[in-house]
Amino acid sequence: MAALLQNHIAAITGAGSGIGRAIAAGFAREGAQVVALDINDKAASETAAEIRAAGGKAQSFALDVTDHTACRTIAAQVRDDVGAISILVNNAGINRRNAFVADADTVVKDWQDITAINLDGVFNVTHAFIAQLRANKGRVINIASIQAFVHVRTPSSVAYTTSKHGVLGFTRALATELGKDGVRVNAIGPGFIETPLNAQVRATNPELVKTFLDHTPLGRAGKPEDLVGPALFLASDLSAYVTGAIVMADGGYRAI
Ligand code: NAP
Repeated sequence: MAALLQNHIAAITGAGSGIGRAIAAGFAREGAQVVALDINDKAASETAAEIRAAGGKAQSFALDVTDHTACRTIAAQVRDDVGAISILVNNAGINRRNAFVADADTVVKDWQDITAINLDGVFNVTHAFIAQLRANKGRVINIASIQAFVHVRTPSSVAYTTSKHGVLGFTRALATELGKDGVRVNAIGPGFIETPLNAQVRATNPELVKTFLDHTPLGRAGKPEDLVGPALFLASDLSAYVTGAIVMADGGYRAI
């Protein structure tokens, strides 16, 4: 069987770590030329180097998704150096779990940083690459969360929950607008996935981990590799008639 992403160029933000790195490797295994983007230049270049060492095709570029001008500059550089992309995965994201009634400066900084990266970043990168995506009848995949629907039962993450609701709204609105251009826009809703993003929580807050897992029918945390199949589905022609959707990869969290 032919590789699922042969002749595609796929840009992935936050590709230096966790879910983004796993998706980058999975896409490369299916024939895509990967453009690994991350604020952490070294981590992005390691992802690209691992892909090349495994026989795949990848380049990396440093990119802070909060910097709209930089996003446009990188999009032009990718077009000129690699080629026009046909797949964009908006994956870069952060989380902090401070209560809304915590120290005011902390709460304000959390709100600004989380919305700037998780929501404005999705806009900035998508907007910068939109001409390439329209030219190629491309596919956009936004990494949302179970918190695009629910606020986990802990006093935390109002900003994160808000940002992920925004990502889902952005997904649906853009899918509606770009459908006539043949551009498909979908989201993935991961549950609790073991990555550096939550390493500290896993190390210091077993009660919170238990809260997630008690509510997860499959009874285990996810691994970054658990996101590769859903991402391949949404990036490839397997999902040719799917747009404006969210595919949950949450061990069943949202089902109960
Ligand atoms: P991760 O391992 O921390 O990876 C995120 C990557 O994004 C890191 O390389 C990080 O760089 C990079 N990044 C941070 N700020 C950036 C910026 N301004 N511009 C570009 N890159 C930036 O996290 P992950 O768990 O794989 O998360 C990936 C996505 O999945 C996020 O959108 C997250 O919200 C979502 N998600 C994760 C889970 C989970 O349980 N892990 C659940 C639901 C949704 P630095 O390390 O240098 O900051």
